[in-house]
Amino acid sequence: MLKAIACAWILLIVGDFLSTFCYHIPEHVFGILHLRTHHSYKKNFRHYAILTFNLQVLLDGILGALPYLLMGVVLWYFSPIGVLCGLLIGQFHVWWRHTSILGWQTPKPVDFLCRILFVTTPERHWQHHQKTNQGFGDIFTFFEPPAKSWLRLLRLLRLRFTHRLVSQ
Ligand SMILES: [Zn+2]
Ligand SMILES: [Zn+2]
Repeated sequence: MLKAIACAWILLIVGDFLSTFCYHIPEHVFGILHLRTHHSYKKNFRHYAILTFNLQVLLDGILGALPYLLMGVVLWYFSPIGVLCGLLIGQFHVWWRHTSILGWQTPKPVDFLCRILFVTTPERHWQHHQKTNQGFGDIFTFFEPPAKSWLRLLRLLRLRFTHRLVSQ
């Protein structure tokens, strides 16, 4: 039981870390797919929660979910139940964190619990949709400070790279 809980937590924490630092932030700096699909204005819940057959939305969702699946493969040997629970919780969180567009407001006790556990609420994730420099860490809020540093560093690298290309 304890092993399963540990595996589920590891899957979610390492999955969110890899997804944020290896896909989400580099995509914000160098890519267009995530910004064009996930940050597009006036879309509905199904679009943001990746409950659609739009190929670009699906591709963005799959690339973001890949680190969690990779962790699932690594952790399967230790606890298949833990892996399945972790993936289910992760999927549930994808749907839940996009419910702001449906008018959902997180009840105060749940919001308090999320603050203690450093879990991203729909309200917080909605901030990321509106201000793309904020609200990183799809599931865990403690990734926000290093994520912002990583974002700044990658932007600096992009600037240097394009500057070099122009001056050549
Ligand atoms: Zn989102
Ligand atoms: Zn984003």
